[in-house]
Amino acid sequence: MLEVRNIYKSFGSLDVLKDISLTIGKGEIVAIVGPSGAGKTTLLQIMGTLELPDRGSVCFNGTELIGMKDKKLSAFRNRNMGFVFQFHQLLPEFTAQENVALPALIAGMSRSKAMAKAKELLGQLGLAERLHHKPAAMSGGERQRTAIARALVNDPEIIFADEPTGSLDSANREEIQSIFADLRDRLGQTVVMVTHDASLAGIADRVIEMADGRILNTEN
Ligand code: ADP
Ligand code: MG
Repeated sequence: MLEVRNIYKSFGSLDVLKDISLTIGKGEIVAIVGPSGAGKTTLLQIMGTLELPDRGSVCFNGTELIGMKDKKLSAFRNRNMGFVFQFHQLLPEFTAQENVALPALIAGMSRSKAMAKAKELLGQLGLAERLHHKPAAMSGGERQRTAIARALVNDPEIIFADEPTGSLDSANREEIQSIFADLRDRLGQTVVMVTHDASLAGIADRVIEMADGRILNTEN
C-alpha cells in the first residue's frame, strides 16, 4: 500500500534520515520503535506527506506523492490518511463531535452527514456521552479517543500515530491499545505507529527498529 524508498532528510547539518526504505502492507499494524532522536517522527511525517524528504520516493497505491502539488496533496491526504498525535491537537473552541466532523466537512460532506458520522464514531469509541464536550472538559484518554475518531472519519486507507499513548496513564494506554487492535481485526485498518510503549508495540504485526536515522532490522 505504502512504499517509501531511499529517503534522506537533513535539518541543516544534521542528517536525520539516511537512506530509509520500507513497505507497509494493507491491514498491517507496523510499530516504529527506537531511542529519542532516532528520526521516528520525521519518518512518520514524511510517510504521511506532512514533511518533504530531501531525496527519495513515497508511493501510495502506485501513486508517487513526492512532487505532487500542495492543493492536490492536501486533498489526497484528507481522503486517504488519518493522523493521531501524542498531544491530541484537537481544536479547543470546538466540541468533540465538531472536531471529529471537521475533516469530513473539508472533504465536502454535508454538515448533517459529517455530524452524524462523528456521532457514530464517538459512540463506537465509548464517547456517546461526550459529544458536546470541548477538549478542556475531557480527560486525556477521552481526548485521545476523540483524536482517533477524527482520524477515522474519512475512512482512511492508513492511519499514522505518533506516540498515541505517550501522554496517558496505564489504564488509558491499554484502552488505546485495544482500540488499535480492534480497528485492525474488525476493519482491517492499516496503522503505522511510532511508540515507546512496549505493550502497544506488542500488538503490531511488525516492529521496525530505528537508531540514528537508519532502520536496524533491514529484513523489514
Ligand atoms: P524521534 O521522533 O525519533 O525522537 P525526530 O524525528 O523527532 O526523532 O528527530 C530526529 C532529530 O531531528 C532530532 O535530533 C531532532 O532534534 C531533529 N529535528 C526534528 N525536526 C526538526 C526540525 N524541524 N528542525 C531541526 N531539527 C529537527
Ligand atoms: Mg518523535
